[in-house]
Amino acid sequence: MPHDTPLIATIVAGLGLAFVFGALAQRFRFPPLVGYLLAGVAVGPFTPGFVADQALATELAELGIILLMFGVGLHFSLKDLMSVRAIAVPGAVVQITVATLMGMALSWAMGWSIGGGLVFGLALSVASTVVLLRALQERRLMDTERGRIAVGWLIVEDLAMVLALVLIPAFASLQNGNGDVAAADPLAARFGLGLTGVLLLTFAKIGVFMAVMLVVGRRLIPWILHYVAHTGSRELFRLAVLAIALGVAFGSTKLFGVSLALGAFFAGMMLGESPLSQRAAQESLPLRDAFAVLFFVSAGMLFDPASIIREPWPLLATLFIILFGKSLAAFLIVVAFRHPVSTALTISASLAQIGEFSFILAEIGGATNLLPKAGRDLILAGAIISIMLNPLMFAALDWLLPRLERRRADPATPAAPKPAEIPVTGLTEHTIVVGYGRVGRLVGEALQQRGHAFVAVETSEDILKQLKDAGIETITGNAARSNVLRATNPSAAHALVIAIPEAFEAGQIVEQARAANPALHIVARAHSDAEVEHLKSLGADMVIMGEREIARGMIEELDTRPPDPAPELVPQRAAEGVSI
Ligand code: AMP
Repeated sequence: MPHDTPLIATIVAGLGLAFVFGALAQRFRFPPLVGYLLAGVAVGPFTPGFVADQALATELAELGIILLMFGVGLHFSLKDLMSVRAIAVPGAVVQITVATLMGMALSWAMGWSIGGGLVFGLALSVASTVVLLRALQERRLMDTERGRIAVGWLIVEDLAMVLALVLIPAFASLQNGNGDVAAADPLAARFGLGLTGVLLLTFAKIGVFMAVMLVVGRRLIPWILHYVAHTGSRELFRLAVLAIALGVAFGSTKLFGVSLALGAFFAGMMLGESPLSQRAAQESLPLRDAFAVLFFVSAGMLFDPASIIREPWPLLATLFIILFGKSLAAFLIVVAFRHPVSTALTISASLAQIGEFSFILAEIGGATNLLPKAGRDLILAGAIISIMLNPLMFAALDWLLPRLERRRADPATPAAPKPAEIPVTGLTEHTIVVGYGRVGRLVGEALQQRGHAFVAVETSEDILKQLKDAGIETITGNAARSNVLRATNPSAAHALVIAIPEAFEAGQIVEQARAANPALHIVARAHSDAEVEHLKSLGADMVIMGEREIARGMIEELDTRPPDPAPELVPQRAAEGVSI
């Protein structure tokens, strides 16, 4: 008797087809993501042939979201979150309001109820975590300020959704006239709380959740991992990481009603607070990408291609809100907060899509009879199409940015003069130090001691201020930009020290400087053998790999105290040296 294995069939069909379609998409120069979505459409119920289990696929996709958010949390420290709150909180709130109002206006035009419009508008206002993170990671934006603002913004949206998911059923019951909040929150119902009560209870739950994470999680999670690390079993260590990620996400959903994604994000953040565990944990997330792919497949499965033809105008209006309405709102808010245009454009592009939260909202809207079926179809079609078009939004960004920059002041540095007008340094036979962080500062100090003239290039405002206070000649901006590099007068310089950690940017700098001055002595910094090769091939004379130098320093230190020839003394010294 053949036995039924829907879970295996779903995983195999999902990953297998995603691979085939992804490879095909790549072949035709589309992002693989488009292929994953099409793979979903192919195994979905609206196209002929094999139909995968939709409920299972959705649950597998949730796993992907948990793991992804856990990974983001790992990179994200509490400090990062706090440092962007000034823009992320008002930004997300205003954007959600604007998008919701636009959605409500559209639904009003289609004759739906206010409640339906509210759910519809909210669904259009929240971006997909997975799509946003993919886009940021692919473009190496996770560690930039723009990336941090976008992630902070996403966290605020996430929190707003927690509220919305609780309030919608309450709202539905009010609109249906019975004032019963049981559907919204059984606890609130038991104590006879009204809408205000439900709200307060939700806030209280989120508050308790955060407090528990900050006070208990912050200590307990690293403690568990350190304990497991001592067992020496890698397998057990990876398992511990996975168990914590999934356990905290699931537990916080059950106990505090926050989303799985948010729970996982906090779990990751607690882990990331301790630098030791961070690295180990990162390596143990190989499952993440596979499940993220399943997310896209399951999104594709929901899509009914015929809906595009059935209702073209409402769909176009929905897409307009997602792609342009939301982006414009985000853009204006970010610029109003005096952030550079490049930041505003990146954030707009990353948020110009909708995804998993919108699916959840559509489902709740349907279950509470607030949202008509047409609304659900529009949300799904809007999500699929906006996810497919998202890479195009970024392509448009790439096209637009250099053109804007040519006309405006360097956006990375608000105080900078117009690009064409960055005054070229008067120095000649000087050294150019790009990046004045942990590495560049030491180089600069050595040059000062030797009395060599140098000019520093920096982007960070904090460091620029320190440089100014120290009276060091500085050029503000990203040295990879041609106008910034030109201002350092490379053609008359003696040497160029590239002390930044990012090899792609360093490569750009090497290439341009080499073209400007074939005799320039270029020394660059790298963190892997591949980066060393890359920079040398572009014209660097010498590339110092950080990790190799660290090893050299360690070996030198060991050589200062060679091992004692008497073997019985060795264990004793080891015992003295170990402190745990
Ligand atoms: P560290 O890794 O501590 O040596 O810091 C590197 C420094 O380089 C930081 O202060 C950055 O602000 C700076 N930096 C990174 N990329 C660039 C760039 N493309 N142009 C100028 N400065 C940069």
